[in-house]
Amino acid sequence: MSPFSSFHFGGRKAIIRVDFNVPIKNDVIGDDTRMRAALPTIKKVLADGGSVVLISHWGRPIKDMEKKPELSKADFSLSRIVARLSELLGQPVLFANDCMGDTTAATVQALKAGEVLLLENLRYYKEEEKGDEAFAKTLASYGDVYVNDAFGTAHRAHASTAVMAQYFAPENRMFGLLMEGEVLAAEKVLHQSEKPFTAIVGGAKVSDKILIIENLLNQATDIIIGGGMAYTFFKAQGGKIGSSLCEDDRMELANELLAKAKAKGVNIHLPVDSIIADKFAADANTKLANNTEIPDAWMGLDIGTSACAAFSDVITRSKTILWNGPMGVFEMEKFQNGTKTIAEAVVAATANGAFSLVGGGDSVAAVNKFGFADKVSYVSTGGGAMLEYFEGKVLPGIAAIKGK
Ligand code: AMP
Repeated sequence: MSPFSSFHFGGRKAIIRVDFNVPIKNDVIGDDTRMRAALPTIKKVLADGGSVVLISHWGRPIKDMEKKPELSKADFSLSRIVARLSELLGQPVLFANDCMGDTTAATVQALKAGEVLLLENLRYYKEEEKGDEAFAKTLASYGDVYVNDAFGTAHRAHASTAVMAQYFAPENRMFGLLMEGEVLAAEKVLHQSEKPFTAIVGGAKVSDKILIIENLLNQATDIIIGGGMAYTFFKAQGGKIGSSLCEDDRMELANELLAKAKAKGVNIHLPVDSIIADKFAADANTKLANNTEIPDAWMGLDIGTSACAAFSDVITRSKTILWNGPMGVFEMEKFQNGTKTIAEAVVAATANGAFSLVGGGDSVAAVNKFGFADKVSYVSTGGGAMLEYFEGKVLPGIAAIKGK
C-alpha cells in the first residue's frame, strides 16, 4: 500500500470507496457527517489534478425490496445525495445511474481531470455483498488507483470493500484520509498503548461485548464494566439485582471473565451502585441502591454516585482510554448522569495527555449529545468495524489494502 498523503494523483483516475450510507427520509438527507468526512480525501485527489470515481452502498435494496414489494430501486438511489455532495464539494458532481454496464464504463472513460463522478448504489447488485470477483474486477477497471475510505464497512468482505483491491498493484491501493485516521487510532490503542490503559465497556448486553472484553484482557490494565451488562456479573456473584437487565445464560461466562482477568492481573471495575427505577420510563421514580441489593421490581438504569466517583478516578489516571457503550440509559435525562460523568472524566484525562478513542454507535451518540466530540482524541465513525477490530479480528477491508 501507499500512504495517501504523499501520493500524487495528477493525471490519474482514483476510484474511491466511500460510505455515503447517510440517513435519508422523504428524500431529505438527515445527518451528512459521512459525506463531510469523505471530503478531504476527494479534494486532495482533485487538487493534485486527478479525477474521482465514487462508489458506495446505500441501505439494503435487495433484502428490503424482497420484504416490502411497495419499495422500488428509487427508494435506495444515490442520486438523492448528488445535490448535497455538489454543494459540499463546491463543484458539480456527475452521476451514473448504474455502477455496471457499457454506458457507465464509457462515462468513466470520458472523465476529465478535476471531475467527480458518483456511481449508483453498489447494492443494486447481489454480487457486491457476495464479494463476486467479476463484479469487483469491473469496478477495479474504472480507476488507476483504488482508495478505500469506508471504514464503517471495513469488516465486510464485499466486492468494493475488499475483493477489488487485488486488481491493483500494492503501490496503487491505499486508505483514504478518513480510513487512515481510523486505522492509526485503533492501532495506537491496541498495539502501542501507553499504560495505564483503561477500556470502558458499557451498553445493554454482555453477549455483544464478550469478545471485546476477552481480547482486551490481553492489552488493558483496567476494564470498567457499566451499563445494563454489569447486572449479569452481580447476579452471577449472588447479588440481588431486582428486575435489572440480565442474561441468565451468560452468568457462568461472566464469572469466567472475572477469573481470567484475575489470572492476568487485569483490574475489572464493576459499578458498586446504581440509580434504580420502578419502571423503564423517563418519568420513573428513582433512588440510589447498592448493586447487590436492588429491591424486587426495581431496575438499575444508570451507575450510581459511588460508581461514578470510582470510575472517574480510574479514568483520570489513565494514559490510554478506549470507550465503547454507555453507562446507562443516557437517552433519558434521569439516567444520563453516569455516561455524562464518564465522558467528563475521559475529557479530563485527554486534556492531561491521555489518548482517548470513543467507538461504537451509542457512545459516539453520547459524546455528541454532551458536546464532547472535539475534546477526546478520536471519535470513530465505524461502529461494527471498530468493535470487530477490538475483538482482535482481521478486518477484510484493512487486510486487502495492506495485502496481508
Ligand atoms: P449497546 O448497543 O449494546 O452499546 O447498548 C446501548 C444501549 O444500552 C443504549 O440504548 C442504552 O439505553 C442501553 N442501556 C444502557 N444501560 C442500560 C441499563 N442499565 N438497562 C437497560 N438498558 C441500558
